[in-house]
Amino acid sequence: MGAITIQRKKREEVDLSKYQDVWIVAEIKDGNIRNVSFELLGKAKELASELQQKACVLLLGDNVKKFTQEFSSRGANKIYIAEHGALKDYYTETYSSVITGIISKYNPNIVLYPATINGRDLAPRVAATLELGLTADCTGLSIRDGLLLQTRPAFGGNIMADIICPATRPQMATVRPNVMEMAPIQDGNNAEIIEVPVKVDLQSLKVKTKEVIRGTAAECGIPVCEADTIVSGGRGVGNKENFKLIEDLANVLNAAVGASRAAVDLGWIPKSQQVGQSGNTVSPKIYIACGISGTIQHLVGMKSSDIIIAINKDPNAAIFQFANYGIVGDLCEILPLLTKTLEKKLSEN
Ligand SMILES: Cc1cc2nc3c(=O)[nH]c(=O)nc-3n(C[C@H](O)[C@H](O)[C@H](O)COP(=O)(O)OP(=O)(O)OC[C@H]3O[C@@H](n4cnc5c(N)ncnc54)[C@H](O)[C@@H]3O)c2cc1C
Repeated sequence: MGAITIQRKKREEVDLSKYQDVWIVAEIKDGNIRNVSFELLGKAKELASELQQKACVLLLGDNVKKFTQEFSSRGANKIYIAEHGALKDYYTETYSSVITGIISKYNPNIVLYPATINGRDLAPRVAATLELGLTADCTGLSIRDGLLLQTRPAFGGNIMADIICPATRPQMATVRPNVMEMAPIQDGNNAEIIEVPVKVDLQSLKVKTKEVIRGTAAECGIPVCEADTIVSGGRGVGNKENFKLIEDLANVLNAAVGASRAAVDLGWIPKSQQVGQSGNTVSPKIYIACGISGTIQHLVGMKSSDIIIAINKDPNAAIFQFANYGIVGDLCEILPLLTKTLEKKLSEN
């Protein structure tokens, strides 16, 4: 007892009443709004209406004013725009310093970030700078007694933890793509537009972006988070060479290639394609699980897919309990047949 003590600064009392509205930090990628931004807006509207506050969007970037209409038509009440040439590409230092300035100026009650690569980098920076709490990877958000109840899996997915942040504002969370419903388009909404002046001291930046080099198509393929169809392979694929069977079917269906963590850990496919609790949450129209047993950690990442098709040689595999269609057999025999048949059918149409 007493071997370790943590000394914390005494926190000043915060006047919580001056913090209003539910904000989302929108993400633009390759000149388009990422769908996760609309998903966050859908949740923000719900939370804001319960709190009788406004749902607001924070848009950062270069030349992003053109995106305001899309957020307005999906029901945003206010859109804050921070434009600057230095915000053209995401960079931790510029984005976090601009956002911390804006949060300190406008005092939002809640700020939601996408749990994307950028959002997962940005939100903790902002939280640490402003000495706030942050709940990562929330799968549920609601209001209880006026506070944001942030729900996320804990202890390897064995429990769902509810987290609140009673003493500081804003309350902040990151939310995985494909977990929340997108805010629907509604006619006749006119969001208030607020242009926020941005100052960036270009000389003081430690890192300058000279060029953005994207991975090759072979490396990246279609991102699983954004695909309508995903063909996923697990340990049952057997070896790295056999993953070509998954890729061949994916190519015919114009689908993304996904994987279980076992396949990723075996080095058969990059981590970016992993589906599940410690990978991506996906919600495609069709999810084809090949040689994947269906553990809870995989299922949480894909069970909201519209149609699940499982190929597994074990008729008792757990995945079949969640699949709409199941094929019992060896994927090394089934996949080439399926690919060939679909190729033929699709070329006839
Ligand atoms: C904290 C934590 C986080 C995790 N996060 C994730 C995550 O994000 N995503 C994830 O996927 N897992 C995750 N896991 C790991 C998870 O528990 C499982 O270990 C993993 O999902 C198993 O992958 P798998 O289904 O490919 O392999 P296995 O469970 O080994 O299943 C292989 C399946 O292939 C079938 N099979 C074998 N050969 C063939 C064949 N020739 N033809 C057809 N079928 C065949 C077998 O019958 C079996 O059902 C996590 C675990 C922990 C503890």
